[in-house]
Parts: sequence; structure tokens; C-alpha cells
Amino acid sequence: MGQGSSSGKVIAGRYVVPLLVGSVVLLAAVARAHHELVYVHALTVGVVLVAGRLQQEHVFLGLAVFSVAVMLVDIVSRPDIALVTAAVVAAVCTMLHAVAVTLMFTLGQHLQKLKIRETELEALYNLTATLSNTQSVESFLDQAVHLLGRELDFTHISVLLYDEQNQELVVRAVVGYGNERMIKRIPLDRGITGLAATTGKTVVVDDVLKEERYVAGDPAIRSEVAIPLTTEGRLLGVLNVESTKYAAFSPRDVRLLELIANELTVLLIRAQLVERLRVQAITDELTGLYNHRYFNIRLRSEVERAERYCHPLSLLMIDIDHFKLVNDRHGHLVGDEVLHQLGSIIRRQLREADVVCRYGGEEFAVILPETDGQAALTVAERIRAAIQREVLLVSLRGDNKPTNLYIPVTVSIGVASYPQNGSDWSTLLAAADAALYAAKQAGRNRVRQAA
Ligand code: GH3
Ligand code: MG
Ligand code: MG
Repeated sequence: MGQGSSSGKVIAGRYVVPLLVGSVVLLAAVARAHHELVYVHALTVGVVLVAGRLQQEHVFLGLAVFSVAVMLVDIVSRPDIALVTAAVVAAVCTMLHAVAVTLMFTLGQHLQKLKIRETELEALYNLTATLSNTQSVESFLDQAVHLLGRELDFTHISVLLYDEQNQELVVRAVVGYGNERMIKRIPLDRGITGLAATTGKTVVVDDVLKEERYVAGDPAIRSEVAIPLTTEGRLLGVLNVESTKYAAFSPRDVRLLELIANELTVLLIRAQLVERLRVQAITDELTGLYNHRYFNIRLRSEVERAERYCHPLSLLMIDIDHFKLVNDRHGHLVGDEVLHQLGSIIRRQLREADVVCRYGGEEFAVILPETDGQAALTVAERIRAAIQREVLLVSLRGDNKPTNLYIPVTVSIGVASYPQNGSDWSTLLAAADAALYAAKQAGRNRVRQAA
């Protein structure tokens, strides 16, 4: 920031030329009366012109004094009434000129200040408008730092979020740093950011090299502002802005950043809430896997993708064998715990890109992108074997003493693949279901591939 005065001069400069033309016309009138004076005042106008170019407002005022001096010299040297009149007119003309340019200069500065304020308001508005509909906290923060870097003249911006469990500030979004140099986690009791976080107050450091708390990241950094993001006394994180210049942040910059931090806090709370709701809406509460609703959406989009890129795709339908017996023997709570543990076992057998869902009751569905029938069969067999191998241990707390139950569980799995077993999501699903039914019919605890 801090570009106010130079731009003010540029604006003032626009008024110099018309004023000069006016002055020259007046001087020409004076010249008709007296030739010698023209040279002196033409010189004055020349200096005004240069001063206007160099944009030195005090030179304008200096010229006023100079004009009066010329006038006095004229009067003293040739006490001629016509000459005195001409000199007075010329001097007044130059003085008016000087005053007008000075006024224009000041006006230009004010205009520029208003312009900066407008830019700041616009940045705040854009921040709210753009960030109000971001989908995740991650993309919200990323957009926020880039927007601030773009709309205002801050070069090094980061947002750190508070990790309560580890008592650390975690860098979640950055702009302006070479990524490899960036420190990703800062303990709460360290750094300028830590100080802002623990005191709940803005910390401005003009020279980080003289600050022993400073945790050096980018060696080029000289000054820093850290502003805590808090709501009702609760710490959410820290907005951190740095500069390679010494004492780069004026009180005005700090005030603006505090405004932005306030806005960020409100938007961040919203983004976190939206994200939590979004995750909740697609998550099965008991197992922590994706729910049926998400499965439907995802299966459609994955089939479309497989179609577009001519990639294979497979689907597994997994159903627990005789699960009713588990419930009947041990009760529903034990049944729930078995479902929960089974979900984890299935998840552990799969790649990150595979989508594991609780399809309903005691059935799971797995979408395997980029996986053909043969590979899917191997995956399914791996899951079946793992579940058979791991005898589930369920601990019950009742009647003062905990009881440990060992529950052997097996599953049957149906496998269907795109495009062999179905060319759209519904036929693929029906094929996997039919294969699961065939596995049950064949005696359970086995894998069957769609015909
Ligand atoms: P199979 O699939 O081998 O034919 O036998 P099954 O006993 O597993 O089949 P069935 O579909 O007849 O029974 C499913 C049982 O799963 C019925 C229900 O009590 C149980 N179940 C479904 N959802 C839940 C749940 O959320 N928690 C618990 N504990 N049990 C559930
Ligand atoms: Mg079953
Ligand atoms: Mg079932």
C-alpha cells in the first residue's frame, strides 16, 4: 500500500497544463505593455512547468515569492505607472497559479485516498461475495489468500488454523512464498503467530530479525503482522501477512487487515459449518463410510466418467452372512459394533480412490474406479478372506464387568464390471446384486462375478 502521495501528484499534474496556458495568455497581455518583463515571467512559467513535471508543491509557493520579488525590483528600478501595473498583474498571475496548483495537488491526494478506500471496500465486498459460496474450508482459505493478494498490495499472506489437539497452528493456505520454504506447523508457544494466537491480540513486528520469538521461514522476510481469528473468545486461527520491507505495515494497513480478519472469521465459521453439514449429509453415522445417497450420486458420475474416457469400472456388493443370527444371539448393539468393525476391515483392503459405502442394513457397496473384472475379483476375494480371518472382538460393558465377545463373521460378495455387465449405472447395480444373490445361493462366504 502507501501509494497515496505519488498518485496524488499525478492527478495534480493534469491541472498544470491548463493553468499554464492561462498564465501565458495573461503574460502575453502584459507583454504588450512591457517587453522586458515578458522574459522574466516567461522564465517563471518555465520553472512552473518543470515544477509541475517534478511535482514539487513547495516550488509553486516559492514561485509566488519570486514573482513578488520581481515586481518589487521593477517598481524600484523604473517608477513608471504603466510598468508598475504590468508587474503587479504578472506577479498576481503567477501567485494565483502557484496557489491553484497547490490546491489541485491537495485535492488530488484526497481523491487518491478515496480511491484507496474504495479499493479496500471493494476487496472486502469481493471477499464476502466470492467466499460465501465456497464448498470446502480448504478451497475457501485458498481463495481468500489469493483474493487478498490480488485486490490489495500485500505480497506474503497465510492463514493458519488452530489444531486444538496438538496445540499447534497449521498453515492451511499461503500465497507469495516459495512452497518448499514454508513451515507447515507452528507450536502455539512459538512464533509471532503463536503470540497473536495466545494473547488474542494483533502483533505487528517492524523488524523480524530483532524479534527472538520469530520463527524464520522465508529468509527474505523483514516485517510481519499476525492477527488472531477468534470468535467469542474461541481461537480459530491466525491471519499472517509478511513483507520483505522493513516496517512495511502502516497503522492504516493494520486496521484494514483487522477488518479483513473479522470478515474472514465470520466466513470461516460458515465454511466450517457448511463443510460439516456436507460431510454429515453423505456419511453413514454408524460406520463412518459414505451413505446410500452418496453411493447413488457417485456411481452415476463414475459410470459416466468410465464411459467418457473408455476406462473400466467395477462394483462390489457385500452382504454379511446370517447377520440376523448375530443380532438374535448378542443383541442389536453388538450387531452395530460388528458393522462398524467390518466397515474398517473393508476400507483397509482398498485403495484411496475406491469408494466404500454402507448400502443399507448389513450391506456394503464398493465402487472400484479404473478396475476391470479380473482385478475386481481379486479385490473382492481379498476382502472376503480378510473378514473371515479377523474374528471380531466386541467388548460389552454391562453388569459391572466388561465382557469380551469373539464373533466370527463371513460375507458374500457380488462383482459386476463396466462395460461387460452393464452399460449404465442401474444395469451395473442390478448385475452386482444378481451376482451377490448367486454367491448366497452357492453357499455364502464366497465371491461371484456377474454373468
Ligand atoms: P443372509 O444375508 O446370509 O441371507 O442372512 P442375513 O441374516 O444377513 O439376512 P437378512 O437380510 O435376512 O437380515 C439382515 C439383518 O441385518 C436384519 C437386521 O436385523 C440386520 N440389520 C440390518 N441393519 C442393521 C443395523 O443397522 N444394525 C444391526 N445391529 N443389525 C442390522
Ligand atoms: Mg445378510
Ligand atoms: Mg441383507
